[in-house]
Amino acid sequence: MTFSPSHPTTMSIPGLRAALNGQVIAPGDAAYDQARTVFFGGIDRRPAVIVRVADASAVAQVVSLARETGLELAIRGGGHSPAGHSVTDGGIVLDLSQLRALHLDPGRHVAWAQTGLTAGEYTTAAGAHGLATGFGDTGSVGIGGITLAGGIGYLVRKHGLTIDDLLAAEVVTADGRLLRADAQTHPDLFWAIRGGGGNFGVATRFQFRLHQVDTIVGGVLMLPATADVIASFVAEAEAAPEELSTIANIMPAPPLPFVPAEQHGRPVVMATLVYAGDPDAGLRAVAPFRALATPIADLLRPMRYPEIYPPEPADDHPTAVGRTMFVDAVDRHVAEAIVDHLRASSAPMRVAQLRVLGGAMARVPGDATAFAHRGRRIMVNLTAVYQRPDQAAVQQAWVTGFAAALRQGDGGAYVGFLGDDGQGRIREAYPGPTWDRLVAIKGRYDPTNLFRLNHNIPPMVQGSTR
Ligand SMILES: Cc1cc2nc3c(=O)[nH]c(=O)nc-3n(C[C@H](O)[C@H](O)[C@H](O)COP(=O)(O)OP(=O)(O)OC[C@H]3O[C@@H](n4cnc5c(N)ncnc54)[C@H](O)[C@@H]3O)c2cc1C
Repeated sequence: MTFSPSHPTTMSIPGLRAALNGQVIAPGDAAYDQARTVFFGGIDRRPAVIVRVADASAVAQVVSLARETGLELAIRGGGHSPAGHSVTDGGIVLDLSQLRALHLDPGRHVAWAQTGLTAGEYTTAAGAHGLATGFGDTGSVGIGGITLAGGIGYLVRKHGLTIDDLLAAEVVTADGRLLRADAQTHPDLFWAIRGGGGNFGVATRFQFRLHQVDTIVGGVLMLPATADVIASFVAEAEAAPEELSTIANIMPAPPLPFVPAEQHGRPVVMATLVYAGDPDAGLRAVAPFRALATPIADLLRPMRYPEIYPPEPADDHPTAVGRTMFVDAVDRHVAEAIVDHLRASSAPMRVAQLRVLGGAMARVPGDATAFAHRGRRIMVNLTAVYQRPDQAAVQQAWVTGFAAALRQGDGGAYVGFLGDDGQGRIREAYPGPTWDRLVAIKGRYDPTNLFRLNHNIPPMVQGSTR
């Protein structure tokens, strides 16, 4: 099958199979239903074809096919998009999950990674050398999606965002070219992909900086979720050395093996702490958190960094609504609002997640990359998980009301956690000059908005946006 821009192509599945290096999965194939399933439940879309590409030239072929057929193109890495952007109804899914090559250079502390790898796979391989690049809190998230969003995780205060360790990328742009983007080559594209998501092309490889992160002090600490404990936890996290990053989930205690049965369903702070530095100093740094209340569970210990990603259930597809925002303080008053809203929810599982930021992330200038929230002190993610579709509206209303109660000034949004929340929320992810610069760069690299199934940045073409 040939792709000629002058002759509109109708898609032929046998033609694709013959022309492409990769697996072509169509409706009716045994693998189809599994291949169109994404992480979140409640998303049931039927693509015309799913192409699991084997190399970068197959990526370019699929991009050209989408351009020539006009079919909607979904890019799939790890499949964790909260908005369901990695699967399309009637269009083409470009599935990158077989792009799995990883070349580590421990001597130079750099790695080239293909974008079908997950955060957990990369971390395990790098961890064998006592090295790491920071990703998020979940091993099954794809390095493609998290890196292009920014990447906020357990090393954020010590080493910054994932994009702060991105040295270069290879990107297939809308015209089918494979470009290298770094600080010297296509620097505008390099700026835009560090936070601008999948708007500018398909990233096939990333070059990352690696840090020495060997034995850490980390794990789960579960405390009772009183307003005092929550506010004090945040105060300790802000005062802690930068080696320590925390992610605190305030939620009903889940029925996990390490949680005593009488605590199940009670409000708890289920926090994961990571101290990336000397283990003795780490034990001293976590002591104030342990002293906030008698822990319900205390799994903090020296461990190899990759152990921070526990095994995940293979077939967990939660249906959820969520809201991501930033706040500047969580004092006792805010903590009380959190406890009250969680108590008032009817959702089988509801979570207010608090991530204290700062440190290395905040030292990078706000206009150095397309991630514009460097100065924000705390990220808040609110989630309600529900079971029946008829519960969606009530859970959405709860999340909206909760977010309004917590809002402090300009809420902002982290694009990695944005759902299908509308254009206004995308603008909150990319405020002011960041947005203006992104639409101009989009106009240069994707003037027809081929890459539009994402938190879309419409291209600026000859002075107006499409
Ligand atoms: C359970 C869970 C935990 C999370 N934890 C964190 C966290 O701790 N920190 C954090 O920062 N984020 C976190 N996220 C958000 C996550 O980083 C984003 O949702 C990310 O987009 C998921 O990437 P993916 O490759 O798994 O998803 P996909 O659904 O495959 O991709 C999402 C979108 O990203 C774009 N994309 C992905 N790969 C490429 C590529 N190679 N080239 C071009 N575009 C691409 C596409 O637009 C695609 O639709 C979490 C999400 C979930 C569901």
